[in-house]
Amino acid sequence: QFRQHFPLICQHSLTDLSCEKHSPLIYFDNGATTQKPNCVIQTHTSFYQDINANVHRGSHRLSSQATVAFEQARETVKNFIHAKSIKEIIWTKGTTESINLIASSLGKKILTQSDEIILTVSEHHANIVPWQLIAEQTGAIVKVLPLDAVGKVDLIQLDTLLTNKTKIVCCAHISNVLGKKNPLIDIISKAKRVGAITVIDGAQAIAHFPVDVQALDCDFYVFSAHKMYGPTGVGVLYGKQALLESMPPYQTGGEMIKSVSFNTKTTFNVLPFKFEAGTPNIAGVIAFNQAIKFISQYDHGEIAEYEQLLTQYCYQALSQIPQVTFVVADMPDIPVLSFSVDGHHNHDLATSLDSYGIAVRSGHHCAMPLMAELNISGCVRVSMAAYNTLAEIDYFIACLLKIMNQEHDKPNIKITKTDEI
Ligand code: PMP
Repeated sequence: QFRQHFPLICQHSLTDLSCEKHSPLIYFDNGATTQKPNCVIQTHTSFYQDINANVHRGSHRLSSQATVAFEQARETVKNFIHAKSIKEIIWTKGTTESINLIASSLGKKILTQSDEIILTVSEHHANIVPWQLIAEQTGAIVKVLPLDAVGKVDLIQLDTLLTNKTKIVCCAHISNVLGKKNPLIDIISKAKRVGAITVIDGAQAIAHFPVDVQALDCDFYVFSAHKMYGPTGVGVLYGKQALLESMPPYQTGGEMIKSVSFNTKTTFNVLPFKFEAGTPNIAGVIAFNQAIKFISQYDHGEIAEYEQLLTQYCYQALSQIPQVTFVVADMPDIPVLSFSVDGHHNHDLATSLDSYGIAVRSGHHCAMPLMAELNISGCVRVSMAAYNTLAEIDYFIACLLKIMNQEHDKPNIKITKTDEI
């Protein structure tokens, strides 16, 4: 069973609501970060207990062991996203650092006055601000792509925005607020027609859908380990080898050089090390390898079907409440549901839900331009993972109704454990 591998949520499962002492944890904030399975926690700990050494440096046994495990993780990621070569997999701290690396390195290399960068209005700040800064520095212009009625990128508008000045097109695979899968194949092929480079933010998609970067034919695809059952502080930047070869280093220091001299020009290491200055998050990378192995044991179709069931069940239950308004009317493609409740501020709702042990996110979700577009200051977001259950959704809905009716007792619902996978 999937859920039993996650100690934090298992310790607080919804079992006996009549027990006064029982405080359940309903973790519905998986879009922010997922819980970690035992095998990931153990791998992380055992790195420090059994191997701890720096990578690519020492000739001693521990360093070789650490380097082998670290590089095996790169191979696992390469296979997981179907990249051509391990040279195309760069370790970063997370999605945010991956995008900053691309914007800074590629931006400085290719952007000049009045070149254009297209971003969608639903991007996370991590895929907006680095581009705004590089645009300021280079004189490039940021153009904003609107959404269609169901919350996906508007392909017709994309046609009107693309020009021969468009150098970069950035788009989330799935928005962290809307949960809708963008039509990447079309976006990427349209961008290519004008010779633009495509940067895909896969932070929300990677935990829910198989990703094949060669089939997508995107130039860059970035994501974070912590949103797919892995540790925090580890991210991936996939980039096509030829592009990465052509880009200048992002950060400099140890490990990313070939030779350093005060007399001749310093030269840089080969890919992927050219972009990995300093000591990386070795334990995190090795634990991330374990996270990918963990999810790869499960049948993807079965997990996706179960997540779809959670999405539909929650969507339908919320739809029954007349005061609930979803940010987009269409049902999301992943279990991410964002909504407002008439007469209740989103922060108050999140705080009240927390008093029942329900963790949701409220606010602008690092997507202020999208909030402005939707004409709201914020919303509540329920984001689920395959370890969540239908019973948790029942409990959440019952608690939400109690909050709306200003009742303060525990909801009286029957808990069944049969729906878990
Ligand atoms: N993009 C999207 C779509 C996200 O959901 C997030 C995380 N909320 C990020 C980027 C940033 O990820 P990280 O904080 O792991 O760098």
